[in-house]
Amino acid sequence: MKIADIRTHVLEAELDQPFSYSRAWYAKRASLIVEVVTDTGIVGWGESYGPAAINAAVIKHFRPFLIGQDPMRTEWIWKELYASYRDHGQKGSVIQGLSGVDIALWDIKGKFLNQPIHALLGGWQRKSVAAYATGLYRRESGDPVDYLAEEAMGYCAEGFGAVKLKVGFGIETDRKAVEAVRQAIGPDIGLMIDANHAYDAVSAISLGRKVEHLDIGWFEEPIPPEDIAGHIEVKRALTIPLAGGECEFTRYGFRDIMVRRAIDIVQPDICSAGGLSECKKIADMAGAFGIRFAPHVWGTGIAIAAGLHLLSVLPDLTPPSLVPQEPMLEFDRTAHPVRAELLVDRIEHENGWVAVPEGPGLGVEINRSVLERYRKAA
Ligand code: CA
Repeated sequence: MKIADIRTHVLEAELDQPFSYSRAWYAKRASLIVEVVTDTGIVGWGESYGPAAINAAVIKHFRPFLIGQDPMRTEWIWKELYASYRDHGQKGSVIQGLSGVDIALWDIKGKFLNQPIHALLGGWQRKSVAAYATGLYRRESGDPVDYLAEEAMGYCAEGFGAVKLKVGFGIETDRKAVEAVRQAIGPDIGLMIDANHAYDAVSAISLGRKVEHLDIGWFEEPIPPEDIAGHIEVKRALTIPLAGGECEFTRYGFRDIMVRRAIDIVQPDICSAGGLSECKKIADMAGAFGIRFAPHVWGTGIAIAAGLHLLSVLPDLTPPSLVPQEPMLEFDRTAHPVRAELLVDRIEHENGWVAVPEGPGLGVEINRSVLERYRKAA
């Protein structure tokens, strides 16, 4: 089997209601879908997270190398592409493009062997994964204290056992929002907060101290990802576990975080940090360092399926025990028209749990008409 072609699909969809996190407003959602075609007719699908047009250009640059290669050689292809771009692309778009290609190659591998990816990555340890609801963003109108509390209660009613709230809007504003959501959901639902690195260490510690009595599951990206010393400072000052890693790349980037124990829960994005090949390695490294693993997932059904296959094969976060702490899936509840329509069978949760796909490869079928409907004009 040989790679015959590789295509990139840059998609974009307008949102009816814009929403914001601490650093920007979203008025539309963009996606980069990667299609790898083989000479056997098997097609593999991948997705890259990040700036879609730039990552698509990266993949076009990979194309001459990839054409004619054996797609089963995922480790070799990863190594060769990484080495070719190492001098200029150890992080960022080169790795995001590589991630999309790697996921598509795993989809091909599974389809060729007629096995789901989880069977090839080590075999399932769980067939459904507990999901937490990512939502609780800011809206253009209304009082956040009211609409965040109401939205959070909606997730509880759907059966989610944990929710994640966006913070980073100012310490007092954040404190009020965290208190309102905790009060709304009660003491038994997990509550995580995510600042998208809007703070510095001083402000992050200040906010953390004001909310740590509210049983916060983790404080995600309190400060810029490149400030490892700052992470250590925040971690030492607070009892809240520190999470982060959606802006980090490859085993090498995560090695530097892990050896310094700068983060309690690492969150690589499979569509960004190096694909399934690399994120399995990062997960294994996290296990060796006694650090928890909770992948960042912010894409379409392809990204969610990739996350489910990886989460399926990982051991519990805590050592074997009768009451294990299991790794969780990030389940984005915000508006995303492409995510809603791309798969023939949408990945849904049931009472806060998501089943791992059982079909060959990623186990998802792409609705090709969606690629045309949302294709961004070049
Ligand atoms: Ca985040």
